[in-house]
Amino acid sequence: MAVAETRSRPSDDGSSYARHPKDLDASHGTFTTPDLSAFCFLDDHGLTVTGQEISPDKAVLECRVTDRDPFCRGCGAEGVARGTQARRLAHVPLGWRPTTLLVRVCRFACSSCGTIWREDTTAAAEPRGKLTRAAVRWALEAVVCQHLPVTRVAESLDVSWHAAGDAILAEGRRVLIDDPARFDGVTTIGVDEHVWRHTRLGDKYVTVIIDLTPTREKTGPARLLDMIPGRSKHAFKTWLS
Ligand SMILES: [Zn+2]
Repeated sequence: MAVAETRSRPSDDGSSYARHPKDLDASHGTFTTPDLSAFCFLDDHGLTVTGQEISPDKAVLECRVTDRDPFCRGCGAEGVARGTQARRLAHVPLGWRPTTLLVRVCRFACSSCGTIWREDTTAAAEPRGKLTRAAVRWALEAVVCQHLPVTRVAESLDVSWHAAGDAILAEGRRVLIDDPARFDGVTTIGVDEHVWRHTRLGDKYVTVIIDLTPTREKTGPARLLDMIPGRSKHAFKTWLS
């Protein structure tokens, strides 16, 4: 909401001006009914929140697949529900509180052809993924844009270091591979070195290469161009060639 402000000309001695703020208490926003699923980015994950369990240090949201599809993948006949299986997914830590989804996935059996299947949850996460798609995006941004260590990201998601690290690298690659034109118009790049993992044999590094053209030209935020294993100097030299 814009606050209209008018200023009078300075008085003769130049000491004062008057402010007339308007519309300070009037809202022109359009409110809709509160919707926890939408608030938690779950409407585009194909999930509906059905319950919550909130404690000071973590939140669990019980969910179901929004669009129930009981029809057989084999013959098209309507299947019979055969109970549910729970799938746990780490979600975006809303308010920095680890937030886990407990998705009750229905199993169906077809009495005509014997096919057994589970509801499709690929909109919410990769088939064997431990993080929701929104959580993977959050984690990648946390590391690349906010410079959080992977340990801290894993802690916020309440997953293992490996689960967080693997998901971040996979998402980084996916975002890049899907965009072959990513180098078009790049004039300024930034190189950022992260300690990826402390090991007994020494630290392992990943070098993040960022397109700073949009920030320099004030047209938008910096973009991730690539993530490569190794320390910045050597990795960057290899990358450039
Ligand atoms: Zn069937």
